[in-house]
Amino acid sequence: MTQQITAVSALASFLHKAKSRGQTVGFVPTMGALHEGHLAIVRKARQENNLTVVSIYVNERQFNNSEDFLKYPRHEESDLSLLQGEGVDIVYFPQTAELFTQENLPINFSLNGLDVLLEGASRPGHFKGVVEVVHALFMHVQPTKAYFGLKDFQQVAVLRKMVKELQLPVELVAVPTVRAENGLALSSRNQRLSEEQRQEALILFKTLCFLKEHYQKTPHNELLAQAKANIHSSSLKLDYLEIVDPETLISLNEHHPQALACVAAFCGEVRLIDNMLLIAQ
Ligand code: AMP
Repeated sequence: MTQQITAVSALASFLHKAKSRGQTVGFVPTMGALHEGHLAIVRKARQENNLTVVSIYVNERQFNNSEDFLKYPRHEESDLSLLQGEGVDIVYFPQTAELFTQENLPINFSLNGLDVLLEGASRPGHFKGVVEVVHALFMHVQPTKAYFGLKDFQQVAVLRKMVKELQLPVELVAVPTVRAENGLALSSRNQRLSEEQRQEALILFKTLCFLKEHYQKTPHNELLAQAKANIHSSSLKLDYLEIVDPETLISLNEHHPQALACVAAFCGEVRLIDNMLLIAQ
């Protein structure tokens, strides 16, 4: 049976008993408004652990735009029933005052610039907010493994760096992006798109596929320019489209054996991101 927990003390006592019986804990942090992308992660966590904890917390600290925070979809009731349907053990609704205490905040460590590129450049302070909340949640849950989606590729890179630098005793697991049948990456923010906008937003996936298809055959700069023109000719407002080294996230300006295309664009008021590896691994 799924337990709903809001107090860290209740969470700790439940998990303490489980861990003292040698049970492993898989943890999936979310901001709710759950979709199949979240559920794919939850299923993986369930397969690999004795207990699964899913947190739902819309973290104001990682929003650099207060309107985006206010308009972020919130569906606690339906989220809860989806998670019950998946057989999740604990749905944790943390309280802000218990999260951001002095001892839960990460001590200073270097993200080696990973937090100021791409999303970090467009959304100053975003990754500071992400690191703070995930670190605090790790302190509360103390999971064996924690699961994140590659839809937020840079977030995974930043959190891996945090875990490494702070030597946190948790294994991070990255889960592939789940897409709608037509290719649109699932996102809670898609709920704010009209049917017509969802069709228009497909340009992001199509452009990533275009890059992947032509990457080995077309000169780097020419290909990138064509891909940008593709988005500029749509109704979306391009924020960035870059081909980067997936390790460092530094922009590439020539062909590289490992390359990741990252895109961010506004569809109406809604900011969407997506990414794709350009060379099969
Ligand atoms: P969010 O609720 O947006 O904070 O997302 C919670 C987790 O789900 C994060 O690790 C995201 O990267 C992941 N996620 C969101 N959308 C997708 C998707 N379409 N496919 C896979 N993972 C996703």
